[in-house]
Amino acid sequence: AYSVGKVTIPEFESTAVDLIPAIASNVRATFRTNKSKNLEWRRVQLRKLYWAVEDYKDELLTALMNDLHKSTYEALLTELEWVKNDCLFMIKNLEKFAKEEKMPKGAVPATFSLMGFRQRKEPLGAVLIIGPYNYPVQLLLAPLVGAIGAGCTAVIKPSELTPSCAMVMKEMIEKRMDPNGFAVVNGAIPETNALMNEKWDKVFFTGSAQVGAIIAKKAAETLTPVCLELGGKNPAFVTKNANLAMAAKRLLWGKTMNAGQVCMSQNYVLVDREVVPTFIEFLKIAYKEMFPNGAKASPDLARIVNKRHFARLKKMLDDTKGKIVMGGELDESELYIEPTAVLVDSTDDSMMQEESFGPIFSIYPVFTLDQAIAIANSVHRTPLSLYAFGSKAENKKILDSTISGGASINDSFQHGSLNTVPFGGVGDSGWGAYRGKASFDCFTHVRVLAETPYWADFLLRIRYMPFDWKRFNT
Ligand code: NAD
Repeated sequence: AYSVGKVTIPEFESTAVDLIPAIASNVRATFRTNKSKNLEWRRVQLRKLYWAVEDYKDELLTALMNDLHKSTYEALLTELEWVKNDCLFMIKNLEKFAKEEKMPKGAVPATFSLMGFRQRKEPLGAVLIIGPYNYPVQLLLAPLVGAIGAGCTAVIKPSELTPSCAMVMKEMIEKRMDPNGFAVVNGAIPETNALMNEKWDKVFFTGSAQVGAIIAKKAAETLTPVCLELGGKNPAFVTKNANLAMAAKRLLWGKTMNAGQVCMSQNYVLVDREVVPTFIEFLKIAYKEMFPNGAKASPDLARIVNKRHFARLKKMLDDTKGKIVMGGELDESELYIEPTAVLVDSTDDSMMQEESFGPIFSIYPVFTLDQAIAIANSVHRTPLSLYAFGSKAENKKILDSTISGGASINDSFQHGSLNTVPFGGVGDSGWGAYRGKASFDCFTHVRVLAETPYWADFLLRIRYMPFDWKRFNT
């Protein structure tokens, strides 16, 4: 167990694999009772989740500090308050989202207007939510808010790489929420495999593209729909028409939040050759502003999640043929990596070959915007995010010539910073979107209804045999 002050977090314990079929069948059975379709039940569960996050605040903050050295400020901003706001948003809009809807104007021709066409919003059923380690609270509970809002029951599977968060969430969800509606399964590959051997009505997976493919393949065997929220090698473009000081500061921000362990964070910056030295100078200035006593001494900067990921990032830096132009300090005993920029000149460089998912990134000098676009498209055709710092025309050209899940102009992260706006990837960075109303839609089936009055049969004469062939001039 791990104790800080009054908070004690139990030792990580995986759920016994042989219990998993019963856990899954319990939430499936609960769904079949229709209990979760009741709007008041959903509202109660959302309120319970809100208060669970509030009441377990000390435990969650301690766990986030223990697992990722995530500061209380960052943890509140991007994890706890985020989820609570999601709960409030869903509670506030639930009635509106769940209401049966008429067909959009113009969809039903006048002659069919009596046939009662409408759209019912139906929960998909019992769903499985699998989370990654970087936002161990938010990236599990924000999808859960969508599932509850839609009227689904759910099993959630936290990442085993953030064991303290996983244990707190298990206790929190199982003590506070309807235990027949929701369960937490803890564990790694064997437990996830056991979960994937069960039949779900949807699997919501956030994590790496590699594991996403394993999940999608397994789900395909039973034609189970999946939402995949994956990663990628996100490019940033900086032309000589950019506000270079701002570009440097905002891109450094993109690599310091959660120590760059963010799916949206830029992997490399394609910078116009002429302004590379100035851009680097501004990066150093921004670094000084953010970390007046150096990054290591900052109470704000998170650490790398574990030794394996530390070694992976270290190897990227060891193997690079590029030049470190900012940062470069590593301390394994603290799993500390300094925000680091490396000047590279080839897409074959170790810094360009994989998603960094850490506080390190490369700067790649380019001659022209066309060259920058060609490089970005060759490194990764469909990344999760893209950042453009150029003139209006250049930014438009960048957007027109590339594909990405989302994009910010003159900024990092901004397009993904609102939990009321849909978020998702494209191509191999993700399938489907969530957040805001999209979270409700993600777990909802729109069931189209027609209700034909018996008395209206005279209007339907044309559909019955014998056909009136004259109708088509035959
Ligand atoms: P991961 O894919 O290693 O793990 C995600 C989940 O899958 C964990 O719960 C893990 O236990 C499980 N898992 C791991 N290997 C498995 C296997 N072989 N079979 C079945 N299940 C397995 O991801 P991670 O390292 O925790 O997270 C980092 C990745 O997630 C990055 O690629 C990042 O870009 C991506 N990510 C995407 C988003 C998004 O919203 N699009 C958000 C955060 C992270």
